[in-house]
Amino acid sequence: MKLEDLGEFGLIERIRKSFLKRSQRAPIGIGDDAAALSVSPGKVVLATTDMLVEGVHFDLATTDFYSLGWKSVAVNLSDIAAMGGTPLFCLIALAIPRRITVEQVSEFYRGGGALLRSHRVLLVGGDTCGSKQDLGISVTLLGEASKKRVLKRSGARPGDLIFVTGTLGDSGAGLEIVRNGKPDKKRASAGTEHLIERHLRPVPRVAWGKKLAASGLVTAMIDVSDGLSSDLGHICEESGCGADIYADKIPLSKALRSVKALRRLELEYALSGGEDYELLFTASVEDEKRIKSIKTGATVIGAITTRRGMRLFFPTGEVKALEQSGYDHFRATGRGAGK
Ligand code: ADP
Ligand code: MG
Repeated sequence: MKLEDLGEFGLIERIRKSFLKRSQRAPIGIGDDAAALSVSPGKVVLATTDMLVEGVHFDLATTDFYSLGWKSVAVNLSDIAAMGGTPLFCLIALAIPRRITVEQVSEFYRGGGALLRSHRVLLVGGDTCGSKQDLGISVTLLGEASKKRVLKRSGARPGDLIFVTGTLGDSGAGLEIVRNGKPDKKRASAGTEHLIERHLRPVPRVAWGKKLAASGLVTAMIDVSDGLSSDLGHICEESGCGADIYADKIPLSKALRSVKALRRLELEYALSGGEDYELLFTASVEDEKRIKSIKTGATVIGAITTRRGMRLFFPTGEVKALEQSGYDHFRATGRGAGK
C-alpha cells in the first residue's frame, strides 16, 4: 500500500495499534501531544538518541526493514546498557520518502517492536514526516539507573584491567559480506550467516550492563559502536590515561576466523570495524575473579596505563601505536561513506 493512500494519521494509527496504548509506567502514551512517564523514585533518568540516515548508516539494498527497525532500536538500547541502566521508554521519529510502502514501515516497527518487547520497553511516541530523498530514522531511548551505580566513560585508573564482552569484528566483516553481494543460500556457510546476522541484527548487552553496574566493581564502561580503537580511546580521554592491548587476547568468533575471502585481517575488523555493540569496561586487577563470576563471558584484553596513548602488543614482541580509527562524519575518515 502507498503511504499517500493511508496518510500520516492513518500510518500513526496503524503503528499505535500494534503497541500497548497505556501502562502504569506510561499513563499517557502514543496519541497525545506528549507522553507522561513515571520513573522509580530515587533513580536518575538516562536519555539517549541516535540517528540513522539512508546512504550514511544503512543501505536499503543490503538490509531488510525488519532488521533496520531492530538495529535502530538496538543501537540505542546499547547506549543504555553501556551506562548499566534499565531501558524503559522509546520514541521513534521517521522522515519517509514516497517510494517507501506502508508494509515496509510496518516491517520496520515489527523488527523494532520485537526487540523493544523483549526488553519490556514501551513505545510512547515519535514523529512522522515526509522526506524528499532519503529515509531518516531517529530513535530516542529513556531509561533509569541508580545514581550511585551509573557507569561512565571516566573512572578508569592506571593498572585497571580492560575487559570486553562477546567477540569483536563480526559486524564489520558482516558488512563487507553484504556489500559484496550476499552469497546465495547454498554457498553461504553458517559462519557467513552469523557475521551477517551480527551486522544486521546486533544484540544489545542490556542484562550484562545491569549486572556489571550492580556489582559496583566496574570503574568505566562504554559500548563498542565505532570500533575498539575508537571506543577505548574515549575511555582513555575521559579517564585521563592510556591503554596497552594484547592483540592475541582480543576475542574473535569462530565465524570470523573461519570465513575465507574477507579482504582484511581479522584483527582489523576487531579494531576498527565497529557496530559490534559489545561492552568495553575496566575494573581493578583484584576484582578480576569477581568480574569473571558475573556471567558476561568477558575477556581481559589489556590494561590501563598512566602513560597517555594506546599501544598494541603482539606475541612476536612487536609493539604498535593504536590509533583511533573510528568514523568521523565530517572528516569522512575511517570506514568511508556508508559506515
Ligand atoms: P503533534 O502534531 O503533536 O506532533 P503527531 O500527529 O505528530 O502530533 O503525533 C501524534 C501522536 O503519535 C503523538 O503521541 C506522537 O508521539 C505519536 N507518533 C507520531 N509519529 C510516530 C511514530 N513514527 N512512531 C511512534 N509514535 C508516533
Ligand atoms: Mg509530530
